[in-house]
Amino acid sequence: MVALDISHARRRPLPQADAPVRAPAAPSAPRRKADAPRPGGPVTPQSVKGRFRRIKWTSLAFCLAVYGLLPFLRWDRGPDAPGQAVLFDFVKGRLYVFFIEIWPQELYYLTGLLILASLVLILLNAVAGRVWCGFLCPQTVWTDLFLAVERAIEGDRRERLRKREAGLGPRRIAELAAKHAAWLAIATWTGAGLVLYFGDAPQTLRDLMAGEASALAYAWVAIIAGLTYLLAGFAREQVCTFMCPWPRLQGAIWDPEALTVNYRDYRGEPRGSAKKAEQLRAAGEPAGDCVDCLQCVTVCPIGIDIREGPNFACINCGLCVDACDGVMTKLNRPTGLIAYESWTNIERGRRREPQSRRVIRPKTLGLAAAALALAGGMGVALAQRTAGSLTVLHDRNPTAVRLSDGRVRNGYTLRLVNKDRRARTFAIAVTGGGDVALALIGSQTVEAEGDATVEVRATLTGAGAASGPVVFEARDLSGAARFQAADTFMAAP
Ligand code: SF4
Ligand code: SF4
Repeated sequence: MVALDISHARRRPLPQADAPVRAPAAPSAPRRKADAPRPGGPVTPQSVKGRFRRIKWTSLAFCLAVYGLLPFLRWDRGPDAPGQAVLFDFVKGRLYVFFIEIWPQELYYLTGLLILASLVLILLNAVAGRVWCGFLCPQTVWTDLFLAVERAIEGDRRERLRKREAGLGPRRIAELAAKHAAWLAIATWTGAGLVLYFGDAPQTLRDLMAGEASALAYAWVAIIAGLTYLLAGFAREQVCTFMCPWPRLQGAIWDPEALTVNYRDYRGEPRGSAKKAEQLRAAGEPAGDCVDCLQCVTVCPIGIDIREGPNFACINCGLCVDACDGVMTKLNRPTGLIAYESWTNIERGRRREPQSRRVIRPKTLGLAAAALALAGGMGVALAQRTAGSLTVLHDRNPTAVRLSDGRVRNGYTLRLVNKDRRARTFAIAVTGGGDVALALIGSQTVEAEGDATVEVRATLTGAGAASGPVVFEARDLSGAARFQAADTFMAAP
């Protein structure tokens, strides 16, 4: 059973090296509002500089660029196919992703993709906690963007808090109007950007801007824009803490060996001002490296004081690491008081034991192997796809009828899928079932348009002494493709 000890960083002496390790406490409910200007007020994070902030800016730029530019990327699929690299074509029921084309009856590929994404997410969690949430999740990316706009217009944390308390004046109203206008512009771009994935992007964009797109397209732009404005502008950390299921799952999948953001309390405690720490050290008394400046708390977008211990709401963004490293550098002390470190190593540090990192362990190896096996299996399945398929539906009621001459007849519906771009003609044949004779309703060959599905009615007639398996085969008259489907010829009751 996994349990979090969250009370290790209270203001109290550190355990001695030979002291017994305390029993783990129950996991805490997500803690927040440590830097809120007033109880219940929104978290107002301060800007910070450092390597994790730089990584976050890079990932923000990358994610937004991919989201905005991907629909305009072209991909040559031949003359009669859409030339958009990533396209969800709801009209024809196709999903195009570069060289892959998914038909509605192949949605199991999407199921496989979702399972693969879950495996990768759990693997990431085992390696570095909620690192996906801190750097790549759309909620984080868009909230970071909205916060950057807010800072550019209203100033950094202290200024924003002061202005919020000061009340409204003409300048403040103009600032708020500019901020919300910018937020709405980003939200509208986000909504329009999503719609571009569902039709030819350049044409859809022209239609949207000229007011000539469908009402449905405008409705989706409005829905996504509204959600973006609300979630990134107002809900922010509430989404990461309460609305997203990932923090709820942390209780089950939290891994003490994962490199999560942790406070090295054995080095930082007892905390106190730099001056007081100097006095204590001069007097030969213990003093920690934490100067209680609260920089780690004020930069946290979730409003967590990481010194209180692991917190399920922490998105592992590393901004508190940057803030604390900046403070330590100014104080000429070693950085890494807050760091990506495993909880096991924090406990070892408290016991003054040598530390070790175990990123590669049975759990991570197993998860990586499962993800690779699934990805490989999906790759093989995609490589072996045929350019068509045949399915057979046996008539249910009745399954067989006895004719006046004593013979038995079964009825079937043959569904032939032609995934090729060109029209093809298929000859249908049947094997098995003894002396059964096949008859197609209408023509004896089946014409299938390119990129289309065609259904034909067929009957099998035979002596019907006993039921037996039959195999239908559709053979492309202009090529080598053959598609088969098995069914049964039923004797009359
Ligand atoms: S930023 Fe570092 S020194 Fe300042 S309160 Fe946080 S842990 Fe302590
Ligand atoms: S505690 Fe640190 S790593 Fe966790 S969310 Fe806050 S700033 Fe990010």
